[in-house]
Amino acid sequence: MAEPKTIIGLETHVQLNTNTKLFCNCPTTGLDKPNTRVCDVCLGFPGTKPRFNRMVLEKAVAVALALNCKFNKLMPWARKSYFYPDMSKNYQITQYDVPLAYNGYLMLDFEGRKKRIRIRRVHIEEDPARIIHVGGSIMKADYVQVDYNRSGIPLIEVVTEPDLSSPAEARAYLNKLISILEHLGVYDAANFVLRSDGNVNVAGTKRAEVKNISGVKTVEKAMAYEVTRHRNLLRRGAALKQETRHYNPKTGLTHSLRVKETEEEYGYIIDPDLSWIKLSNELISRVRKSLPELPDERAKRFIKDYKLNVEQAGTLINDKSLADFFEECLKKHNPLLIAKWIVTELMKSLNYHSISLRESGVTVKGFLELFSLMDDGIITSRMAKELVKDYVDLKKTPKQLVRAKGLKRISRAEDLLSTIKKVIKNNSSAVRDYKSGQGRALHFLIGQVMKETGGQAEPGKVRELIKKSLK
Ligand code: ZN
Ligand code: MN
Repeated sequence: MAEPKTIIGLETHVQLNTNTKLFCNCPTTGLDKPNTRVCDVCLGFPGTKPRFNRMVLEKAVAVALALNCKFNKLMPWARKSYFYPDMSKNYQITQYDVPLAYNGYLMLDFEGRKKRIRIRRVHIEEDPARIIHVGGSIMKADYVQVDYNRSGIPLIEVVTEPDLSSPAEARAYLNKLISILEHLGVYDAANFVLRSDGNVNVAGTKRAEVKNISGVKTVEKAMAYEVTRHRNLLRRGAALKQETRHYNPKTGLTHSLRVKETEEEYGYIIDPDLSWIKLSNELISRVRKSLPELPDERAKRFIKDYKLNVEQAGTLINDKSLADFFEECLKKHNPLLIAKWIVTELMKSLNYHSISLRESGVTVKGFLELFSLMDDGIITSRMAKELVKDYVDLKKTPKQLVRAKGLKRISRAEDLLSTIKKVIKNNSSAVRDYKSGQGRALHFLIGQVMKETGGQAEPGKVRELIKKSLK
């Protein structure tokens, strides 16, 4: 039986890298020491008035343009009212009825297919304070501490239509979104982890919203858990509730927080302290003209200028640091060779450890050592593959590894012949097969010699010597 259809929509919060907060002059850096980046405005003291930081508008417009959105030109600010210690004013300043931008899309390359993920809206809002749960998780904490450094940092919220059809696709969407944000230069992945709310609906029944999931892989895990939970409930014929849930990354489970409140219950009103945002066509076209090269255009250039295939280009541009790494390497070597080694060997090791290039510590200089070692005939390409793995595992560069392991390529006949003799002796049936004309048997014998020499033998030389020995 086919699994019931899953649809997922994401609301993702992104901190914009402005110098100061959204409605006051507090700096947005040096946030480590709690409650040191605060003032009367972002602490919500009575009588204080917010003032809009115009830099936020330019960055938000850039994001909306990159996501192919339409714009509203005149927008009030809204107060979203609720009580929670992370919001000292008892309301969050956000955009509600009239968002900055709407009706956009992001093109996703997923499992070899292009898919358009519709963007419902992009709006600006302030970040609440950070709550630290002391003595346990959100469900078990003894008490909370509040750090208002984060209060008032500018956020944009990017809301998709429910166009994502699996947890893995949700992850791919977030990776593409991050790549776009990083190409725009409006977001620092090193300083901020994306926070998403994921809406899951299975088989068209009631939907559950999982709030505040940090990161990208975590979103995939939380959504996968929810999809399974829904399917199990449906299979048992149990009723699903529309509700808000919390994901605990330590246990991998979600818990019900509350039966879902409606948007109306937040009692949105227009904020009388702030004048309406007027968005001019001049500003939009100025930002449009200054847009940098974005991931999709970059992929096209990689294909056209460097003759990469679609898959290689797509893999590289999905992570800005990987695409930058690739282009840095090109100063010394041919693009097809570099792309092949990054997209196959390096990515294999990074994916195996589930880390990004940035986290791996692999540098351009270190990576290029592989090619000079091969060019100088010190290592074979098979050895180079092993070195890529070890580079990621042990954080030692190829040259350091070659030195430490005493590796060298073996290509002289006198160094290979005894191994070849041994392999021929121990594999008499393969030898028979070869002599009766089966080409595959030769490959097998070469493989055995490679194995015996720890990959150090020169495969071409081995082939030649085996053929000669079996004549
Ligand atoms: Zn402040
Ligand atoms: Mn929000």
